[in-house]
Amino acid sequence: MGEGVEGLAPGDHVVPIFTGECEKCVYCKSDKTNLCGTYRVDPFKTTMVHDNGTRFSVVDRQSGVRQPVFHFLNTSTFTEYTVLDAACAVKISPKAPLEKMCLLSCGITTGGQINNQLTSSSSTSMLH
Ligand SMILES: [Zn+2]
Repeated sequence: MGEGVEGLAPGDHVVPIFTGECEKCVYCKSDKTNLCGTYRVDPFKTTMVHDNGTRFSVVDRQSGVRQPVFHFLNTSTFTEYTVLDAACAVKISPKAPLEKMCLLSCGITTGGQINNQLTSSSSTSMLH
């Protein structure tokens, strides 16, 4: 657990979400979207939001040069281990089965956005 992380504790069960929420920006405070201005998906962003850094690296076998393993979609979950910003981790019940909760990571984020759009009075054209 990194310094300054609030609302989470070691041992908590979480699911990673690629659309994190800072809870402070105008988008996070809106009831019409969950696309945070800070943690929204940017497939071209290759570092962590917090410090624009990476957390892992590899050493090239031939040259011996250490090179960063870049971050992807705020979560980098195509791996056994990852490091992500706390804004991209959602605490879940420890009783929830992890093998099923992992599927909610993408589905709830996407579904929440669609639900928000469909309930917004200014976005009825999405139904056409
Ligand atoms: Zn935000």
